[in-house]
Amino acid sequence: MMNPQELDAIVDRVWNGEAPMEEWTAAVSGGSIKEVSSDVIVVSTGYLFGNVTVIRTEAGLVMIDTGSRETARDTLRAMRTWDKRPIHTVIYTHGHIDHTWGARLLDKEADENGAARPRIIAHRNVLNRFQRYDETQDLNTIIMGRQFNQADYTFPGEHRRPDEVYDEELTLTVGGVRLQLRHGRGETDDATFVWLPEQKVLVSGDFVIWVFPNAGNPRKVQRFANDWAGVLRYMHGLAPAVLVPGHGPVIPDARRAAQLLDDGASALESLVRQTLDLMNGGHSLNSILHRVKPSAELLAKPYLLPKYDDPEFVVRGIWHLYAGWFDGNPAHLKPAADHELGAEIADLAGGVEALAKRVEALCAQGRIRLAASLIEFAVAAAPDDKQVHRVRAAVYRACVEAETSLIGKAIMAITLHESGKRS
Ligand SMILES: [Zn+2]
Repeated sequence: MMNPQELDAIVDRVWNGEAPMEEWTAAVSGGSIKEVSSDVIVVSTGYLFGNVTVIRTEAGLVMIDTGSRETARDTLRAMRTWDKRPIHTVIYTHGHIDHTWGARLLDKEADENGAARPRIIAHRNVLNRFQRYDETQDLNTIIMGRQFNQADYTFPGEHRRPDEVYDEELTLTVGGVRLQLRHGRGETDDATFVWLPEQKVLVSGDFVIWVFPNAGNPRKVQRFANDWAGVLRYMHGLAPAVLVPGHGPVIPDARRAAQLLDDGASALESLVRQTLDLMNGGHSLNSILHRVKPSAELLAKPYLLPKYDDPEFVVRGIWHLYAGWFDGNPAHLKPAADHELGAEIADLAGGVEALAKRVEALCAQGRIRLAASLIEFAVAAAPDDKQVHRVRAAVYRACVEAETSLIGKAIMAITLHESGKRS
């Protein structure tokens, strides 16, 4: 394992934009411990896997989150090199599986040792989430497999339910250590962040993820950009000495923590304000998508890069939260079937071949949004035409290259591969 000074140097370089997050992931893979104080550690296993905070108390350990399916075993092994006492309490920061999955290992460990299973505490909406997961397990297999480009992905079942739930705030004292839990909405409606007032340590969960806030994911349930900004402002007011994000390196520095929280809040506030102003002005969704401009200065910060979500998707999420699914285009209220519309447009263009040629020209000019819109008419008109699929693959190859967000790239890449196979 890398020594703490070397790891801190990598984190400094990531903070300064001199190294990619992948370098930190490589350094912590297999399980790495960051000592926050003599009785608090954070176990990290890589950027895509949720961080786990462990607090030593006289009554046993408190864990905040439990780790991802891929790495929960490494997380448990690493924390057991630090302390072997039983786990007294577990807090879920939210119900996403990269934070909750490891709970089953903790139950198993307790059973094997003949100890009591840990008490798990979460916000009340985690129960609703797990119910929804049980009802839509196959859908989640499709969504997650596509988002992370894993053909053999299976979404898990049998989610470990919390034993106790709360609504707005909950203060716990475990073995003499005080923990203040507070609920807020952001990426999810079931989120908790934890404040250790004595140590001034803030465990943010996925309110802080070292990338542009993931508030617009196209294939997930509603997210809450405005509430998210409010939570970041509240956190900023706490003035943490140490900020433990849901993903990515711990920030053990009050000045950096304040800057990150302030910048994250500002980025979201700006999107919300611009979007609502335009909505109040009567604009359609399409008009808003082409008018809202995220702050280029904030987007360039190494901890706000749109590498996972895309600010444009966040604008859609804001629209959807306040105005429902209708985008303001009356033709979209009761649309024609795709194949009928496609056939009509292809006829108007002088045939599918002419339409595909025009798409190629647009693509060559870099007008890839227009090219993507038109090629979908062509493929709807002629779903088995090899040339159309060839052009479509080229269009989405350009789209993937232009897109910064993992989520956007993934959806475009699936289209690229489908058409690649059929051309
Ligand atoms: Zn997460």
